[in-house]
Amino acid sequence: MIEHSQVIEEYLLTLYKLNRAGETAKAVALAKRLNTSPPTVHATISRMQRDGLINVNKKKELILTNEGQKIAEDIAYRHNLSEYFLCNTLGIPWYEVHQHAHRLEHAMTPTVVQKLAEFLGKPEFCPHGTPMPGTTLPENTITLMETEPGMIVEVAMIGESLEDSVDLMKILQEHSIMPGNRHKVIEKTDVMRSISLESKEGSSSLPFHVAEKILVTKITKD
Ligand SMILES: [Zn+2]
Ligand SMILES: [Zn+2]
Repeated sequence: MIEHSQVIEEYLLTLYKLNRAGETAKAVALAKRLNTSPPTVHATISRMQRDGLINVNKKKELILTNEGQKIAEDIAYRHNLSEYFLCNTLGIPWYEVHQHAHRLEHAMTPTVVQKLAEFLGKPEFCPHGTPMPGTTLPENTITLMETEPGMIVEVAMIGESLEDSVDLMKILQEHSIMPGNRHKVIEKTDVMRSISLESKEGSSSLPFHVAEKILVTKITKD
């Protein structure tokens, strides 16, 4: 595989994540997401088009080519594997491993990736519940927003866009809103635009825009 610069890898990964979250991406959105100026983004996009990593359609949406998709999946894998290692082997807090993995993901050779995966016993999910290649979330997964008061749910995955905020992740950890943990949905209030939960660790309240990005599976309904 040809090596791409860290900047290009970053673009590919961002596009890949936007796609996975069901969003289409235009250059403007990408510039905002990457905190870069539109001219810089346009220059990089031209380079990526030239290298056959992305296509731009008539609506000016950026589409990953098969090659671009393959590379993005590989970076995502390196990222999630790094997170798993940092969290479970090195003991770096759950809420901050994403930031560290973000740097590590660009520095791993294919041999390191393979050895690390073997060393870790080929994990299936990142510590925040994102499935690794070949793994998927259970079919009955819904967002926390789609739940009803009275339901008992188990957290499956924290949406990848939430991982960018260490402060938010810390709050989620403090309220044990982490994969595998169970919570009861108490109330959804439109006025406050928040959803309240209760677990054996105590009660918590999340704004709708965060609840939309947390995936859960339903355990029972009262
Ligand atoms: Zn992450
Ligand atoms: Zn993660």
